[in-house]
Amino acid sequence: MSLLSVDQARERILAHFQPVTTETLPLTGCSNRVLAEDMVAANDLPPFDNSSMDGFAVRAADVTAATAASPRSLRVVADIPAGSHPTISLASGEAARIMTGAPIPKGADAVVPVEDTDFDNRDAGTPPPTEVQIFKAAKTGANRRPRGMDLHAGDAVLDKGRVLKPQDLGLLAMLGFANVLVYRKPQVALFSSGDELLEAGDPLEEGKIRDSNSYALAALIEGAGAEVIRLGVAKDNHDAVKALLEKAVDLNADLILSSAGVSVGAFDFVKQVIESKGKMDFWRVNMRPGKPVAFGEYKNTPFIGLPGNPVSAFVGFEVFVRSVIGRLSGSLNGGRQTVRVRCEEQIDSDGRESYLRAQVHEEDGNLIARLTGHQGSGNLFSLVQANALLIIPAGVKCVPAGQEVNAWLI
Ligand code: AMP
Ligand code: MG
Repeated sequence: MSLLSVDQARERILAHFQPVTTETLPLTGCSNRVLAEDMVAANDLPPFDNSSMDGFAVRAADVTAATAASPRSLRVVADIPAGSHPTISLASGEAARIMTGAPIPKGADAVVPVEDTDFDNRDAGTPPPTEVQIFKAAKTGANRRPRGMDLHAGDAVLDKGRVLKPQDLGLLAMLGFANVLVYRKPQVALFSSGDELLEAGDPLEEGKIRDSNSYALAALIEGAGAEVIRLGVAKDNHDAVKALLEKAVDLNADLILSSAGVSVGAFDFVKQVIESKGKMDFWRVNMRPGKPVAFGEYKNTPFIGLPGNPVSAFVGFEVFVRSVIGRLSGSLNGGRQTVRVRCEEQIDSDGRESYLRAQVHEEDGNLIARLTGHQGSGNLFSLVQANALLIIPAGVKCVPAGQEVNAWLI
């Protein structure tokens, strides 16, 4: 069994995955989905010159001398609400009442806000005046949003592989894309294994514990943008494990993920079953927690076996599975962003790449980290108390107080 670095193991795993197929969805179903084509603006935004204020469209040259003490009087020749299409052309000495978002008429090159006029009346239904006194000069272009100021037709707006955010959906709607090509959600079949495992709702029994991994891992899978196929718990025997693997294949899972049962113990059957209908690589990765990670395929469906200890399973997900789901889902940035945090106290490590649970808070613009509770791989509560995983690189045995390290905010 080889000893791999985290990066080597991740690269080896990722090499087996390609993005899943695509589907066209109505925009309303596209939140957090991964875009499967480059999007190009089909029209200018805004599509026409329009007013950014409620006020009066004017010719700037008419009002250069206007002041409150010596206002300029203009004849109001039109009323332009939003949604209308003015056909007039403003002549010198004329103004048009105009609303925010309404098209600027020909001849006008600026908008004077109502508050800079004698007609600061915005009650609904108020008709326009016949004359308006302008109290302030307006520069050419004032309060005018020119056509195309945001985007021009043909501009690249969103790249293939982007996870669609709410603001992206708004922009796609503005550009007229009612349907969008996205990657379908990867399907991840998930099971736990172990004779000791009870359901969350079961009363405790001697020698048994409740299965926590399938709950935590399912939530991680969903959070990473995939769908979970919950297969439950396999007992520690060949047939039980085989039944769940078969089910995963029947349901066309893109990935099978399990926890526990992949060590080399006398009751660890997963490896044996996988090898009966596929192949299995089992690596020791130079990391802690979560040293053993199993990777293989069962009847051509990729399989990742995470360790059973709850914190190891969580860390194994973050280190390996999150990027696999990212790759499957077509996302260009599947992994977590690292941030720099300053260690409040000295941290001792054993030279393996270590993922330590920590609570991070902000102090004078710096992120300060302090380890939480027991760092043993079975101590889930210290992970609950943490909001970050500190990444102590391989080869480092001591991080002095005050030094910065990389971290994932979780
Ligand atoms: P194993 O990998 O089967 O040797 O399990 C390692 C440790 O993780 C043991 O203490 C198991 O009881 C524990 N464990 C395994 N599966 C789960 C699970 N689904 N939820 C909580 N603990 C588990
Ligand atoms: Mg076990």
